[in-house]
Amino acid sequence: MKPLLLFDMDGTLIIQEKPPEYQGTKTHYGPYLSIKRQMKEIVIKHGVPSELVMPLDRMATIWNATRKYLEEHDYSDEEIKAVMAEINEPFMVEERADHEISVLIPDTIPGLEELRNLGYEMGLVTTASRESYDRISRGKTYCCFGEYFKHSITRDECHYIKPNPEPINRILNLYNRDDFVYIGDSDHDAYACNEAGGCFVLLNTRRYDEDTVRSFSPYAVIERLSKLSEILE
Ligand SMILES: [Mg+2]
Repeated sequence: MKPLLLFDMDGTLIIQEKPPEYQGTKTHYGPYLSIKRQMKEIVIKHGVPSELVMPLDRMATIWNATRKYLEEHDYSDEEIKAVMAEINEPFMVEERADHEISVLIPDTIPGLEELRNLGYEMGLVTTASRESYDRISRGKTYCCFGEYFKHSITRDECHYIKPNPEPINRILNLYNRDDFVYIGDSDHDAYACNEAGGCFVLLNTRRYDEDTVRSFSPYAVIERLSKLSEILE
C-alpha cells in the first residue's frame, strides 16, 4: 500500500515572494523578532517565568512552552484558552502579513496532480490558522490546491503545534493510518514527523546548508515537489 502523503503549507506549497534569509535554522527577519517579543511580553504578564520564555527564539516554541507551563501550573481551561487567544493575536498579524505576499509555488499543482494520479492519498498539516488555510487553499489565485486533500489540520484544532507531533497524530487519526511521509521545509516539520513515526522529505526552499540539513536527518531532500514521485516510486 502506498504511504499517506502529508504536506506542510508555508514554504512547501506556497511561498513568500521574498522569503526571509536563514542562517542555519535561524532568521533575523525584523517582523518576526517583534512578534516574538510581543508574545513573550503577554505570557510573562500572565505569570509564565521570563527565564522560561526569554531564551526561546521561535514562535512555535514560545507557543508550546507557554501551554505546557500553564497546564502544569493549575491554570483552568478557561485561563489557558484566554492566554493562548491573546498570544494568537500577534501570531495572526504576522500570519496575515506573510500570506499577503505569498504565492503558489509553480511546481505545486503539477506535483500534486501527478501524485494523485499515481494513487497517493494526501493530507495537509499546517501551523497556520483554519481561517487562513481555508481562504488560501480554496482561493483561485492558489489554484484551489485544497482540493487535493481530503483532510487538513491547522493550529486551531490543536493544543500543541509543530515541532510537537500532535498535529500529525491528529490527521493520522482522521485517515486511520500510520504509514506516512511528511513533506515540509523546516526543522520543525522534521522533528514533528520523526516523533510521529513518519518518513521526512525536506523540500529545501529555505536553502538550508548541508550541515543544517544533516542535523535533522531527512529521508530525502528535494528542490522541487515534482521530484517527489521519483523518490517515492
Ligand atoms: Mg513551512
